[in-house]
Amino acid sequence: MAEVLLKNISKSYDSQNFAVRDITFEVKEREFVVLVGPSGCGKSTILRMIAGLEDISSGDLFIDGQKVNKLPPKDRNIAMVFQNYALYPHMTVYDNMAFGLKLRKFSKEEIKKRVAEAAKILELEPYLERKPKALSGGQRQRVAVGRAIVRKPKVFLFDEPLSNLDAKMRVQMRTEISRLHRQLEATIIYVTHDQTEAMTMGNKIVVIKDGVINQIDTPLNLYNCPVNKFVAGFIGSPSMNFIEGKLIKNDCLRFRSNLGGLEIKINGDIKEKLKTYKKDNICIGIRPEEIFDSTPSKENSYAEKISVKLDVVEPMGNEIFLYFQIDEQQFVSRIPARTIPLTGSSKNLWIDTSKIHFFDIETEFTIT
Ligand code: ATP
Repeated sequence: MAEVLLKNISKSYDSQNFAVRDITFEVKEREFVVLVGPSGCGKSTILRMIAGLEDISSGDLFIDGQKVNKLPPKDRNIAMVFQNYALYPHMTVYDNMAFGLKLRKFSKEEIKKRVAEAAKILELEPYLERKPKALSGGQRQRVAVGRAIVRKPKVFLFDEPLSNLDAKMRVQMRTEISRLHRQLEATIIYVTHDQTEAMTMGNKIVVIKDGVINQIDTPLNLYNCPVNKFVAGFIGSPSMNFIEGKLIKNDCLRFRSNLGGLEIKINGDIKEKLKTYKKDNICIGIRPEEIFDSTPSKENSYAEKISVKLDVVEPMGNEIFLYFQIDEQQFVSRIPARTIPLTGSSKNLWIDTSKIHFFDIETEFTIT
């Protein structure tokens, strides 16, 4: 068993301001849970409280049903992998991995066996006698993971472990950690500010803003059904486009923005709800892939045409990002790579109005 439960946990470093507030979530056995949010939102604070490196101001922390608020870190059977790897520079790879076990007075044979197992899983066997300075960033990261694996902990905590790696190595280590999760059948809590990392690795994602949980969900649900404007904008790359405007509540419901006189006919199930919505001013959100560049088929009566001038054209290989402005507000469209349009050229684009997200302008909650 390896379950973690946080119940109404808050942390204040100065007894006035909260770093995190009323944090409640559960990590089930073998789950890969990702905590994601912008810098300073409190992710590391939560992880450090789970590890026992930081006191909990209020609320309860349970590991396998046992309340552990006051349990010292060494007795929690949790291993943490840090962003800076925290390897001992004067020790070999073998000794770095063995060190924690030696401290815990494991026998020489057991240490040898465990390090050999970890080195095999992480493909570190050829490097066991090297010192960390003679390793690449990715190899050092693997040693840090190896040091955690040899302890066979109940729970692994990862604090932004890939942020010091270059882009290619990050993608490689991402898949390695996912593979490791399956192979070790481990329970993992993983902190990152990178939404791509969160979306690709986690079974369950906890989105945090200003020390408060905004949404806990699967990657797909976060993308398709964000609870508010923050989650909608944070998850997905490039980010969702937002436009503020007014509902025109005639027989045929329309959304009208001051931006370039943009007007959109509203369709679908949301129409009845919006017709009676208590406010007229709202914000709409459109994912970049819902602004497309081909003439819509006749069946698609949900497309609204806009004519734009392309500021920036970014060919990504299999797709192209088109950046354009409407009255000085920037928008982005994401289209399949067929022919690459020229920067500065004019183009007709179509918004799929059946895929629009609607937000309350004051509370920023999604209108559903
Ligand atoms: P990052 O992604 O930049 O690492 P984070 O989401 O992990 O950020 P935390 O490091 O948990 O955020 O910090 C949350 C808040 O608590 C921040 O406002 C930070 O300034 C504050 N904080 C963190 N550690 C301390 C400390 N030891 N003393 C006082 N305030 C702190």
